[in-house]
Amino acid sequence: MAAITLQDVRVVRDGRLVLAVDHLDVRDGELLVVVGPSGSGKTTLLRSIAGLDEVTSGAVLFDATDITNVDTAERGVAMVFQDSTLFPFMNVRRNIAFPLEVRRTDKEEVDSRVEAEARVLAIEHLLARQPKQLGAGHQQLVQAARALVRVPEVFLMDEPLARLDAQLRLEMRQEFRLLQDGYKVTMIFVTNDQEEAMVMADRVVVLCEGHVRQIGSPMDLYREPASKFVAQFIGSPPMSFLSGRLELDPPGFWVSFGGFRLRAWAPALTGAGERVEVGVRAEDVVEDPDGLPVEVGRGHFLGDHGFARVQLAPDDWVQMRTTGQPPPPGSTIRVNLRQVHLFDPVTDRALGRIENQMT
Ligand code: ADP
Ligand code: MG
Repeated sequence: MAAITLQDVRVVRDGRLVLAVDHLDVRDGELLVVVGPSGSGKTTLLRSIAGLDEVTSGAVLFDATDITNVDTAERGVAMVFQDSTLFPFMNVRRNIAFPLEVRRTDKEEVDSRVEAEARVLAIEHLLARQPKQLGAGHQQLVQAARALVRVPEVFLMDEPLARLDAQLRLEMRQEFRLLQDGYKVTMIFVTNDQEEAMVMADRVVVLCEGHVRQIGSPMDLYREPASKFVAQFIGSPPMSFLSGRLELDPPGFWVSFGGFRLRAWAPALTGAGERVEVGVRAEDVVEDPDGLPVEVGRGHFLGDHGFARVQLAPDDWVQMRTTGQPPPPGSTIRVNLRQVHLFDPVTDRALGRIENQMT
């Protein structure tokens, strides 16, 4: 298995910069998830690592060896795509065997490796079937088996679950995560679903318009988003945003927004302007008898918890997480905030996380 490094990689297509990665390390044996909106450069990143797309400048390294000019076939990468690329006229066994057959592997070895792989992926009973006789989930497992049968250094998956229905998608996340745990293959998994990223990843890379916006563990991204973009993208429901005012009052600041005025201090606030964006996560809005009276808007109930919109000020609504049923729309409750995130409204960058000293 290999560690992967991208150094100053730029990909230009039709005169447009579609990928610009200054530095990215993928650790040996790690499952890195790349997440970002459609068109953010996720596929381009994978294809650059696989050698299917030429990088315009910069270098791709496997275990510190520069492979930028090495052919795809020599890189030891395997890739699974969103759509099935199985050969329709070959049965499952022959599809999985194909990468070994083209390498003129001994017949007995082909059989034993195909069967071993099928066992790991629990698709042994499907070996005689034709691809069109398989459901979408099984097709993706067969694609994975075909990719893994030649023991790649690096395993790349480009939105492999995007076409599956919701329930199957949840199961397949687990399958692929367990598969990676077992093989310890260096794996990069692409998705546009932030929840999938959070569930599967050792670390997540957030891409936007070809640029890396943040790299970190799911917890880091959720708790310390580096920008409003990441804060909005990671977490469900998305963070709510309000506009706020910052006032210097040494040794710190006051931040006022939506009927609240909190003491604030973080190193980055020193250089900040008077206006800030205030981000509030739904679980940080809590009922408090001494809190601000707010009107409750529409909510929904998800089983043992729910969410409701509450109005902090005339134009300032935030999502609130509730234990059990949300309060009825139109009612008034008192709420407080456990913490807020501050962002620079011009640069989008995080200025700090402010904990509220609730009494
Ligand atoms: P994602 O996988 O995140 O949806 P892509 O990597 O496919 O994004 O595409 C990133 C950007 O590069 C998009 O704006 C897309 O239109 C552009 N792009 C991708 N491939 C090509 C190509 N072969 N020629 C021109 N533009 C391309
Ligand atoms: Mg794509």
